[in-house]
Formats: sequence, structure tokens, C-alpha cells
Amino acid sequence: MSDFSVTVGLHLEACVHCGLCAQACHFHMATGDPRYTPIYKLEPFRRAYQRQASPFAPLVRALGLVKGPTIDDLQQWQELIYDACTMCGRCTIACPMGIDIAELIRDARHGMFKAGLIPDRLALMDRTARQWGSPATPAEDLPDILAETAAEHGVAIPCDLPQADVLVTAAPAELGEHTAALAAAAKIMNHLGLRWTLHQGGFDASNIGFNNGDLELQEQLTRALIDTALKIGAHTVLLPECGHAYGAARWDAARWYGKALPVRVIHMTEFLDEQIAAGRLQVDPIGETATFHDPCQIVRRGGLEAAARRVLAALGFELIELEAHGITGLCCGGGGGVVSNQRAAPLRHKVFAIKQQQIDATGAQHFVTSCGQCRITFEMGARHAGWTKPTESLLELVADRLRVAPQPAAIAQKA
Ligand code: SF4
Ligand code: SF4
Repeated sequence: MSDFSVTVGLHLEACVHCGLCAQACHFHMATGDPRYTPIYKLEPFRRAYQRQASPFAPLVRALGLVKGPTIDDLQQWQELIYDACTMCGRCTIACPMGIDIAELIRDARHGMFKAGLIPDRLALMDRTARQWGSPATPAEDLPDILAETAAEHGVAIPCDLPQADVLVTAAPAELGEHTAALAAAAKIMNHLGLRWTLHQGGFDASNIGFNNGDLELQEQLTRALIDTALKIGAHTVLLPECGHAYGAARWDAARWYGKALPVRVIHMTEFLDEQIAAGRLQVDPIGETATFHDPCQIVRRGGLEAAARRVLAALGFELIELEAHGITGLCCGGGGGVVSNQRAAPLRHKVFAIKQQQIDATGAQHFVTSCGQCRITFEMGARHAGWTKPTESLLELVADRLRVAPQPAAIAQKA
């Protein structure tokens, strides 16, 4: 309650119970379960607000007009807050009262985190991220992982350079099962002849604190990225194909850094778009049809709808849009840490079925996205459904189709 802001109060007061947000939420669409109505997911928080902080709180308490939430209530709502919400913001744009339900869920997650009521899997990742700077990879392992990735893909990947212009960051999967994405980024950076590096001081941009509601961790991970960039003299932090990294590092970071960011933070899609537009990257067109999944944090909440489409056009794709696309696109079902929460898998798979149907309906030859976490969610859904269409990375497609042979690259180097 002590962290409830005026904005939270205004939003909780403003609901007119029209139910339109329910029609927007993929969890509600996939199940028809009224518990998955977005605003209902906030019910214990609305009750707490009305009893403790609303203008008539003393009266509400004295007359017993609203029942306070119990620990049992919060335990029941844990599933609604963490398993059945990806903080995708589709309900936010559907609400006629302008209530930012996704942001309220983030506030609710902060309360749940402080109460120790987060799913075990996310709690474990939170602890490792506090210690390692990443939920899956200790910082001290980074040099070896990069050296192995460089050798496997035949590309130089600098690590811990003391001076660089661009600090390149990774998503957890890029240091595990999706090293091809990291190699693709390296290929492009070397091709452009940029002075760049990954760095143990700040390398994982996914920011699990952002997802979990652990604000201290969110600040710690944000500062690690920005301070490392400053330490090596970088003017740019380049974010990987990861949606929540964009939300945390591009849009939330200044709040946690305490002032305007001293470095530029851009997403990989934005970077590719800029380099192609400037003529520094040229790609051989593929000339087939494609459809594109808009990652919620990058497009709906991040504003990068056009950039990905320009990169797809440069690749020569004839784009066939999904029935729901752009800022109204449907979430992959795994954002906000839901993909890492094994308990949520059955629900996630139901959501995947809607997306699968929309992708199949386009008849497109390629299915492309620009978020590694969305890609993992689709891959898991596809395995479960026996669906064979691959989910392709926009970054990897660009790297595979670079027109000019890569220039001599910077030599992989450890500090
Ligand atoms: S759409 Fe907005 S006003 Fe309508 S029920 Fe949902 S939160 Fe309330
Ligand atoms: S933010 Fe997305 S997942 Fe969460 S309630 Fe709204 S529409 Fe559903």
C-alpha cells in the first residue's frame, strides 16, 4: 500500500466495469474464464486501495463496505498476476477509461514480490540474477561462452574490451540455446567496422527484476548496463532481440538511474533499420512471403511498429499481416516471465493455439519476429502442438543475407 501512487488510485477508481478489457486479453480469449478478465486480476489490490488509501477509506472500513484481502486471497491471485498476465498492454489500449492495467499488474507484482508470493521458478531466477547479473549465466562464464560461440559460428566476438563505442548486450537464451542470434549480432557489428564489446560488468539486458516486481533488482541490473557503458566510454547500449529488455532499459531505465540516461539505448530492430536506411547495411532480398509477430513490449508499449516492417521490406519480403498485428497484435503468451514459469505451460499452450491459427491463415512462407523470448514461447508451443513452422529471427535473417563479405573483424579479446 505504501507504494501506491496517485496514478494507481486514479486508475483503480476509474473502472466502469464495461468488460471491454476481457475481450482484449489472450488468456480470456483462449479460455473464456472470467477470472482472466484483466481488471479482475487486480481485485485484491482494488480492495486494499479502497480500504486504506481511497478518499472514503475511513468510512469504507467503519461500515465494512469492502472486505480486505486476506493472505489466502493473495495466494489465489498469485496465479492470475504471474501466470495469466504477460503485461502485454493489449487490455490497456482497449480500456475506454484509459486505465493502464498492464502497469497496475506491475505494481501488483511488486506487492506480491514483497510478500514473498512469486512462483518458485521466478524466485529462483531472481536470486541468481542478483548474484550473477543474469538469471541463467554467471558473469564469470561470459568470456568462455563468447569464445565458444565465436569458434562455433566463425565470427569474432570481443569481450571486456576496456574501450568501445557500443556496449552490446544479450538475452539469456543467446548465451544458451540461441547463440546463433549473438553470432548474428557480432557478424553485423564486425561488418560495420564498429568498436564494440560485450562486458561482464553488464551483459544481460533481460532484467528479471522488471518482470518479477523486484524493483531493487531492476535498479541493480539497469545500473550495471549504464555504468558499464560509461566505464568503457560507450555512447550506445545496443539491446538484443528481447522485448522486456526494451521496456526495462529503454523506457524504465531513467527512473532507476535517477536522471536522463547519459548513453543512447536502442533495440536491435531500431539499429538494423537505421543502418539499412543509411546504406551501411545492404541485404540480398529473399523475395518470398512472410508474416510478422509484433512483440508487445517493442511495438505496442515500445512504439517500434514501422522499424521492423522497413527491415522486412529491405529483405524483399511480401508482408502478409496477421489478423491482429501492430499495436493490436496478440501476445505470444510467454512475456512477463510467463515463458520461464513452467507451471503456466498449459495456459500458455492454449494461447499459442490462437496465434498458430492466425499465422496459418496468412499462408505466409516465413514467420518472423524480433524478440527471442517470443521465439522461445512459439517454439515451445509448436513442439507441444506438433506444428512444424519455424519462428525466424529478424536479426538472423539480416545477418544471413548481408550483401558484402564481412570486413576484417576486431580480434576477440579478453580484458
Ligand atoms: S475496459 Fe477499463 S473500464 Fe472497462 S472493465 Fe476493463 S478496466 Fe474497467
Ligand atoms: S496486460 Fe495482456 S495479459 Fe495482462 S491482463 Fe492485459 S491483455 Fe491480459
